Amino acid sequence: MHRIYRHLHTHPELSMQEHATADFIAAELDDLGVENFRCGGTGVVGIIRGGEGPVVAFRADTDGLPIAEDTGLDYASRATGTLEDGTEVPVMHGCGHDTHVTSLLTASRSLLAAPDAWNGTLVLVFQPGEETAAGARAMVDDGLWDRAPRPDIVLGQHVMPHQAGSVRISHGTAMAMADALRVTVYGKQSHGSQPQNSIDPIVLGAHIVARLQTIVSRELDPRTPAVVTCGTFHAGLKENIIPDRAEFSLNIRTFEHETRDQVLAAVRRIIAGEAAVSNAPEPLVEEIYTFPRCFNDHDSAERVEAALRAELGEGNVEVGAPVMGSEDFGHLADAIGVPSVYWMFGGFDLAAGEPPVNHSPFFGPVMEPTLTTGTRAAVAGILAYLGTGAQ
Ligand code: ZN
Ligand code: ZN
Repeated sequence: MHRIYRHLHTHPELSMQEHATADFIAAELDDLGVENFRCGGTGVVGIIRGGEGPVVAFRADTDGLPIAEDTGLDYASRATGTLEDGTEVPVMHGCGHDTHVTSLLTASRSLLAAPDAWNGTLVLVFQPGEETAAGARAMVDDGLWDRAPRPDIVLGQHVMPHQAGSVRISHGTAMAMADALRVTVYGKQSHGSQPQNSIDPIVLGAHIVARLQTIVSRELDPRTPAVVTCGTFHAGLKENIIPDRAEFSLNIRTFEHETRDQVLAAVRRIIAGEAAVSNAPEPLVEEIYTFPRCFNDHDSAERVEAALRAELGEGNVEVGAPVMGSEDFGHLADAIGVPSVYWMFGGFDLAAGEPPVNHSPFFGPVMEPTLTTGTRAAVAGILAYLGTGAQ
């Protein structure tokens, strides 16, 4: 198990470029005698058949991030990769997806070693491109559920800066939907001394950004969580030139489909409205990406929670509130209308100090008990459906 983890951690790859990772996973599955095929480019699917019974799919995401690792670990990554625009960047497993792959491969090994303990079919989904919201869609579009047995339930898990050895599960919404938009507002360029001849896109953009904050504070029910963040704003080259355009990007997080519709409509209304009162041309609003909701079906979450408690002990299982982070995991189940359950497992010794957050250059989970917990949680979740004692 540690051999697998060290290898993956040292050899991270960028989203949708996980070629060596896919080869490595396929070779591990071959070693275990598990039939497997490629799906969605750099995705790998393994199928373990254990006779009549339910079908469970378990997903592990495989991609790294453009981050220069600074953990100081002896197996730290020095890998580089190339972004779509050609920029060479350092690459790191800064979100811990290497722990997910390791846990699922190890769980598969232990289930194969105990064939009498379970009946049914296990579909292993090693999904690329989680960080760009591209991978789940790519696998589904490549016929994932036509080529693999259709699951009754889809399970998944993620390492977090919680106490290693513990897991956290939510009932209902587990993670938010996310929408990213790129906005270009157009003005009329002029000398900085002659504002009367301009339509100032910076003033326009500033009004939009300020007014967008009233969606959450003035339009939504205060009991409804949502986030509207403007993460970039670029305009102009020189202080005495009023430029002809401003560009900014927005990140929107919501829990409910109705809230998402309401917020996105308000964003578009405010952008168009502010442009109109500025006498500016119609702005351009482009979608950068959208993450689906990650929703834990209530009955299924209860079943998995009970299995996790039995396996890991009452004190190591916590029911948590949904988080504002996002995941494309939900698409795998939504695409075929089956339930899913997703939980978090800890990766750090909190007694050693405040842990780094996911996507930090310092995100180096302790190997144990992190990997053993991820493996045991995966086995417990799977056996909650396939175990010979499960109803
Ligand atoms: Zn992640
Ligand atoms: Zn991440």
